[in-house]
Amino acid sequence: MTVEHVVSVSGGKDSTATYCLAVERSRPFRAVAADTGNEHPATYEAVNRLHERTGGPKVEWVKADFSRQIGGKRVFIEKNWEAHGVPADLVRRALSVLQPTGNPFLDLCLWKGRFPSRKAQFCTEELKIKPIDQGITRPLLADGATVISWQGVRAAESEARKYLPKFQRIGGQHSDLPGRLYAYRPLLRIVSVDEVFAIARRHGVDANPLYGWGLKRVGCFPCINCSKAELALVDGHFPEQIERLEAWEAIISEACKMGHATFFNLVNDPVMQAEWLQLDRDGRAIERFSLEQFGIRRMVEWAKTDRGGRQYSLFSREASTVCNQWGACE
Ligand code: SF4
Repeated sequence: MTVEHVVSVSGGKDSTATYCLAVERSRPFRAVAADTGNEHPATYEAVNRLHERTGGPKVEWVKADFSRQIGGKRVFIEKNWEAHGVPADLVRRALSVLQPTGNPFLDLCLWKGRFPSRKAQFCTEELKIKPIDQGITRPLLADGATVISWQGVRAAESEARKYLPKFQRIGGQHSDLPGRLYAYRPLLRIVSVDEVFAIARRHGVDANPLYGWGLKRVGCFPCINCSKAELALVDGHFPEQIERLEAWEAIISEACKMGHATFFNLVNDPVMQAEWLQLDRDGRAIERFSLEQFGIRRMVEWAKTDRGGRQYSLFSREASTVCNQWGACE
């Protein structure tokens, strides 16, 4: 029976250390990364160069494609929206933007008509878990292999990860998986971040330069769960990323029945919350909503203030999300 080792890589410190530990095993393995379309160029470079110093395999990229879902949504809108009372102007505008762009994150939001949020975090599943599953894991299982999926997860990161086993059988009897898929989490008991960076250093691998800018996590840039401080850092050092999200908000707003969609779903700034309540006083807030008032640009302005409120971080999320189990989003 063939046993295939597959290391999931994201360009972050934990998955880089996991890749290096797989190299130290001196046995063949595959490494895979999911291109979300919402990464910083430094992260693509970190992933693409991982094999150079370590002598490990080149990382294979997988990428979600939502062309079929967007096509289906077009048909649905043409048939149903006007019949459901959506103004003809909104229908026309939605159809005009509903074309696949080839950027997975943007296309996912076009299909869903919204950005993901902490409570509806479909991004991890659609952009990372499924493409790796469908592009790498399932074909290996279909060929009869046993697959060991290496995941860069540490118990010290969160309550949810604290209870994960180091080695875990996935699927089996009540699943469509054949019971030959296992998760392996070699970093699970490592507490110190320094120790994680040290594993990469002994292979001559530098940390993703984004850590040097003060970011605690890399991956989507920014992540929908990023902290207030991280958002201010992104704007301070990489304003073009905020411009990109501003443009995306305008596009997704056109594809959305409500006529607006914001990258951050939570309004944590007390001043913005007060404005929202003011808008909502007669229950018609949605109609008066504007991106200028609640969009990414306004969130960035708040992030630069010392006013209260904060974005929820990945570390405060509940147990059992795919992200916590698989470490797909560092
Ligand atoms: S890093 Fe954040 S935005 Fe990206 S897929 Fe994970 S949770 Fe979603």
